[in-house]
Amino acid sequence: MAKLFIEDLALKGKRVLVRVDFNVPLDDNLNVTDDTRIQASLPTIKYIISKGGKAILMSHLGRPKGAVIDSMRLAPAGKRLAEILGKPVSILSDCIGAEVQKAINAMKDGDVALLENLRFYAEETKNDPDFSKKLAELADVYINDAFGSAHRAHASTEGVTRYFKQSACGYLLKKEIDYLGKALESPERPYVAIIGGAKISGKIDVITSLMTKVDSLLIGGGMSYTFFRAMGYEIGNSIVEPDRVEMAKNILDEAKKKGVDLVLPVDIVVADDITPDAKTDVVAADKIPASKSGADIGPKSIKLFADKIKSAKMVVWNGPVGVFELEPFANGTNSIAKAIAESDAISIIGGGDSVAAINKFNLADKITHISTGGGASLEFLEGKTLPGVAALTEK
Ligand code: AMP
Repeated sequence: MAKLFIEDLALKGKRVLVRVDFNVPLDDNLNVTDDTRIQASLPTIKYIISKGGKAILMSHLGRPKGAVIDSMRLAPAGKRLAEILGKPVSILSDCIGAEVQKAINAMKDGDVALLENLRFYAEETKNDPDFSKKLAELADVYINDAFGSAHRAHASTEGVTRYFKQSACGYLLKKEIDYLGKALESPERPYVAIIGGAKISGKIDVITSLMTKVDSLLIGGGMSYTFFRAMGYEIGNSIVEPDRVEMAKNILDEAKKKGVDLVLPVDIVVADDITPDAKTDVVAADKIPASKSGADIGPKSIKLFADKIKSAKMVVWNGPVGVFELEPFANGTNSIAKAIAESDAISIIGGGDSVAAINKFNLADKITHISTGGGASLEFLEGKTLPGVAALTEK
């Protein structure tokens, strides 16, 4: 899947429309509280400036659902970008229309402008052709650098490409495609995946897909209890999806049939209640007391998982293995994060919560690739086509 890359384009004097992901968290005073996504877009923006292109940035922020909502304006993100770039960013009050056109006509080579929140128009998420066309009229070429939105066929990610001769990926999108593509198509082996998080339901497709590709599939977090129930274990008051027990059974059968090394926790940290000051015990996975809830993996499971990770050449991790937000249940996720950081394997982490865990434990710089898209990285690993990537021009 060779897609046109930003470096393949001649940008001098060109109006370059860039779909970035500036969907950043804001505090009550509308200050950006985490600028990771803005930082992640810098290579592409700086490249356009250095080549004498005019960078016209567009993004969504939050879910305004077609209404103009002042607290969801992109101005704070634009302000932060200007600080980081050390140059002015012209912050526009709309994303289409005559005023926007006028402002863009006034741009000089190397200038940067930021359009207003795309989702102030309901047409954006509806992938409306007319809206796509109006966006496309603002520029000469199109770059997609918003991996987090690439799994959605929206006007700014998919529709807009129909009106450009050249649509290319930016640095961030290319990095995501390269690393996740390697995990999907030509992984280093042994290849170990760790899937955690609260529920099976959102991750069933990725579990099914990874099962046929990895050497070991480690399952932790809230979803393990649905597997335990399927295995006939007592799970006490642990989180469970009763309507997914059958599904879990099928996965276990399938794994056995195919000889997949599907690994579940062997011991569990339990407590009466999942609270910040809970008193905990460790019990065998099949001995969870009827009155308790499981909320983390125990030391034997940590060792079991860490040994698999240690021997891996490629590791993919999505979802915490316990309620890591609370101290009494953070050890499992912390230890998995450490084991991945210490391993020599190519490591890929996706999903907001695993990324938050890696950041919480200050291990981000020891990870080969931290994906900026939770849903998008899951869909990619499931082998699904991402509309925002598929729509880009083939080389
Ligand atoms: P997800 O968004 O599906 O990746 O789920 C992440 C959430 O799963 C985190 O907020 C964790 O606190 C939660 N989680 C992980 N393990 C458990 C568990 N054993 N019981 C309840 N919630 C859990």
